[in-house]
Amino acid sequence: MPRLIIASHNQGKIREFAEILGNHWEISPQGDHGVPEVAETGTTFVENALIKARHACRATGCAALADDSGLVVPALGGDPGLRSARYSGKGDQANNALLLENMAPFSGADRSAFYIAVLVILQHADDPSPLIAEGRWSGSIATAPRGDGGFGYDPLFIPDGESRHAAELTAEEKNLISHRGKALTRLIKLAQA
Ligand code: IMP
Repeated sequence: MPRLIIASHNQGKIREFAEILGNHWEISPQGDHGVPEVAETGTTFVENALIKARHACRATGCAALADDSGLVVPALGGDPGLRSARYSGKGDQANNALLLENMAPFSGADRSAFYIAVLVILQHADDPSPLIAEGRWSGSIATAPRGDGGFGYDPLFIPDGESRHAAELTAEEKNLISHRGKALTRLIKLAQA
């Protein structure tokens, strides 16, 4: 099986990728190869995913998978967007509090939002034809948090067609319909094509 470096230090993501991709590749986190974080200087999710994958390829000489994801709220001009992880600069709970505060003037359709995940596989640092898969998960921003599953903005995210908040779904339920789940399914199809 070919080796695939996971260009992430997030244990949750590494576990999720290993579970789903482990049949196709020998999965190896970049931390095991001493690859340091790289600055995410892109202005789009796809640019940042490419930067991370290229960095891991260059450092290890192997193929690499990277992802970039976030929450996009059109009424806020796309925020938290690329800055989703560091929106408040004080972690998940403060990010949720800031989002609630910034959403206060909005109601109805103006509270719509979507999660986006972009996954990239590069065979080598100069690979001119990366595999790129995107997934989106549409919903709306609640007026109060609910649930203690998931992570990030899940307590405030109500997926379209659901009465529960994302943080009230089981991990299996979330993986089936989430932005990351959809992107992963698409990536596997691309890799097998
Ligand atoms: P990344 O690790 O640079 O992709 O940052 C992703 C950030 O977007 C996370 O720290 C969360 O704030 C947010 N995010 C992405 N996916 C999810 C999700 O599935 N649930 C909740 N928050 C998410």
